[in-house]
Amino acid sequence: MSEITNLIAEGRAKRLYATENEDEAVVYYRDETVAFHGLKRGRIIGKGEINNLICEYMFTLLTEKGVPNHFIRRVDNRCSLVKRVEIIPFTVTVRNIAAGSLARRIGLPDGTRLRNPVIEFNLKNEELEDSLLNVTHITALNLATTAEVRQIEMMSRRVNEILSECMSGIGIELIDFKVEFGRYKGEILLADEVSPDTCRFWDANTHEPLDLDRFRHDLGDVEEAYREVLHRLTGNVLRSNEEEA
Ligand code: 5GP
Repeated sequence: MSEITNLIAEGRAKRLYATENEDEAVVYYRDETVAFHGLKRGRIIGKGEINNLICEYMFTLLTEKGVPNHFIRRVDNRCSLVKRVEIIPFTVTVRNIAAGSLARRIGLPDGTRLRNPVIEFNLKNEELEDSLLNVTHITALNLATTAEVRQIEMMSRRVNEILSECMSGIGIELIDFKVEFGRYKGEILLADEVSPDTCRFWDANTHEPLDLDRFRHDLGDVEEAYREVLHRLTGNVLRSNEEEA
């Protein structure tokens, strides 16, 4: 791998570094976490390592199933090499079961199964609490073309099918997830991460959350839930108290 050069971006959960190869970047997964648009902050010890391994598993699966994405390979415990995409500045949330902000907005009880997957777009802007957008907002603001939005929606639906099937095979319900996309050499790639930070995973039997909601709502056993997801996916029993650098 070419050497890391400088820091490109720093978020609470990840840092992104440039490398000598301008087409590639290195993602460093942190233990830090935020919730409620940055209002609640904390640290989940070992999360960076666990999410790096979960993302390796998820992106490898998505590549095998033909979903173009930014992942190249895992580099070490906390870092992965990715294609350096230009991030499209809105997120896509796919929901199978009402929870979180949808349940609040629509007034549905948490856990209500939706008759079809709900797809939402949100502006990537924490100060504006990631405003909800529709396709006409996206084209009016020149965030993406209609054709790009159509492709992004199709890819998001496919990701939902693949992840739902994968998780159901290990006794976990995929409630919802949020993803980002990027442009790379004329292509649209799935980017960012797919992990318990960005998905709602409920145990299929107990309906207990195995994701960041444990931190958001002070449910306890946060690290244990992340380890459980990794273990069920890969058989890996990571036991690490390594602090981040
Ligand atoms: P909600 O809008 O219901 O709070 O969250 C919808 C989905 O987006 C959940 O799976 C949640 O974990 C995920 N999510 C919430 N905030 C963020 C964020 O800042 N980044 C990413 N990638 N996902 C998030």
